[in-house]
Amino acid sequence: MTTELILVGGGLANSLIAHRILMTRPDFPLLVVERAASLGANHTWSFHDSDLSDDQLRWIAPLVAHHWANHELRFPNRRRTIEDNYNSVTSELLHEVVAPELGDRMRLETEVTEVTPDGIVLADGRRIEARAVIDGRGDPGAGHLDIGYQKFLGVFARLAEPHRLTGPILMDATVEQTDGYRFFYTLPFSDTEVLIEDTYYADGPALDRPRLRTGIENYAEQQGWAIAEVTGEEAGVLPIVLGGDIDAFWAVDPARVARSGMRGAFFHPTTGYSLPEAVRLADEIAAIPSLDSARLFDLTRRRSGELWRRTGYYRLLNRMLFRATEPDQRYRIFERFYGLSDGLIRRFYAGRLKWFDKVRVLIGKPPVPVHRALRCLAENRHPSTALSSSSGGIQ
Ligand SMILES: Cc1cc2nc3c(=O)[nH]c(=O)nc-3n(C[C@H](O)[C@H](O)[C@H](O)COP(=O)(O)OP(=O)(O)OC[C@H]3O[C@@H](n4cnc5c(N)ncnc54)[C@H](O)[C@@H]3O)c2cc1C
Repeated sequence: MTTELILVGGGLANSLIAHRILMTRPDFPLLVVERAASLGANHTWSFHDSDLSDDQLRWIAPLVAHHWANHELRFPNRRRTIEDNYNSVTSELLHEVVAPELGDRMRLETEVTEVTPDGIVLADGRRIEARAVIDGRGDPGAGHLDIGYQKFLGVFARLAEPHRLTGPILMDATVEQTDGYRFFYTLPFSDTEVLIEDTYYADGPALDRPRLRTGIENYAEQQGWAIAEVTGEEAGVLPIVLGGDIDAFWAVDPARVARSGMRGAFFHPTTGYSLPEAVRLADEIAAIPSLDSARLFDLTRRRSGELWRRTGYYRLLNRMLFRATEPDQRYRIFERFYGLSDGLIRRFYAGRLKWFDKVRVLIGKPPVPVHRALRCLAENRHPSTALSSSSGGIQ
């Protein structure tokens, strides 16, 4: 069998690429191969309006299952509500929208065992050839990247009574600080349906699920929310990049296969979130009139390198957070950050900080001993961290 484009893995990034291509070329001969029983597996992906352009917000709108006009931050010495639209895409809706667009151009519950620039091999030994292949099989592991972790357990719950929130609580750090920076993240899907996540910016990836479940029950109780039923659970261990070598990251797999999503390091260094980068990559790929493997490899490799160079400053902040700050004091970095202007906060999450924002974030009194901060800055100059002068401002 032969087709034009094979998308290996039907997760967030490749589903968005397929959706975006089919918006303008509904008959395009492509194939999505996914090992799970549905596209996107079992996920809720959130983003701010300010992460995307107006045009991107328009085309992703059919995939947005929940939308809020504000969100809240809570720290021991600061409480703040930010008026900025926040959205969640769910894997259920992603599947509901994209699967019919794909029709028989989708193979679910199908394992891919080999990926090359001109085709794939399935677990049953069959080979499918294509002019172009994009590997979107998710997080390849941290090879050659120096990382900390954002890890969490989330519980989807139905409450006995309405929660009375007006929007999500993106960080509630008024809780006991254990295992690094700890906060609760709550998305209110309806008056009585919520997702509550116990989240840690921690040095290690281990998740003690029973302990976190108890933590979530206790937190709900403190908020006055009686959980009537737990309807689901999701867990994540996302990379927070402190440094590393992006060339070596790509060189682990010598085949010149294009990559999308986490596979190509297309994620925000400080949050581990990948949706905005996945939207941007989908836009760029869908705009190419004729897709072939060499061109797609060059495009994704180049974009990944550019993103790495543009985000050197975020890795510096991550090192300050993980290496220069005592774990139980890390919350103070975020507490201070959320005292800055709405515009700066938006630009931070959108990855569009200006040079004066970078200066603004660093000046003041963070809880970081000077000698440790200087060590983080010095590391920034190490060639393996591949920082660029093109990112402007502090290197
Ligand atoms: C619990 C959780 C919550 C997150 N929340 C957010 C969020 O709110 N906002 C945000 O922007 N980011 C979020 N992220 C981070 C990131 O956006 C997600 O990890 C996102 O799903 C990454 O997209 P992806 O396409 O790279 O990988 P995935 O969505 O993981 O897709 C990879 C797909 O490849 C399939 N696959 C893997 N190997 C094979 C194989 N051999 N054969 C066939 N199929 C295969 C997998 O089954 C999977 O469906 C979250 C991550 C997690 C884990």
